Amino acid sequence: MSCIFCKISAGEIPSYKVYEDENTLAFLDINPVSTGHILVVSKKHFANFEEADEETLCQVIKTVKKIGLSLKKNLAVPGYNVAVNNDPAAGQAVPHLHFHVIPRLLDDGLKPWPPKKYQENQAEEVLNKIKIS
Ligand code: AMP
Ligand code: ZN
Repeated sequence: MSCIFCKISAGEIPSYKVYEDENTLAFLDINPVSTGHILVVSKKHFANFEEADEETLCQVIKTVKKIGLSLKKNLAVPGYNVAVNNDPAAGQAVPHLHFHVIPRLLDDGLKPWPPKKYQENQAEEVLNKIKIS
């Protein structure tokens, strides 16, 4: 087993554990975007979001909610981002399903992705390709 998050889940390498249940684990990100940045992982190994079964995704998102509530209650953060970097093209460095929960403050200066505008007909074109019927 070479996966670092599998090793953390199995207790083989240490982590700053925030929450654990039968199927999920939450721990501090070692290189936080902001103080209290937490990773929520499934204990089962899945390389990415689509590989994971729906039951596991539900378990993980329930833990994400618990973490968000704790951040608001105990760190008094007014908001947080929930993010998944899915696959290397999206910045995923660790190929084990995980959600980032990133505390945010009003006017903290953190900027997510820059928005663009669709050109004429571009929205319809992409919609027709990806629409699920
Ligand atoms: P991602 O780019 O979405 O795959 O994010 C992986 C995250 O895992 C990064 O934010 C790292 O800082 C974090 N990370 C890597 N190794 C560890 C570790 N041993 N303990 C806690 N966080 C880690
Ligand atoms: Zn793993």
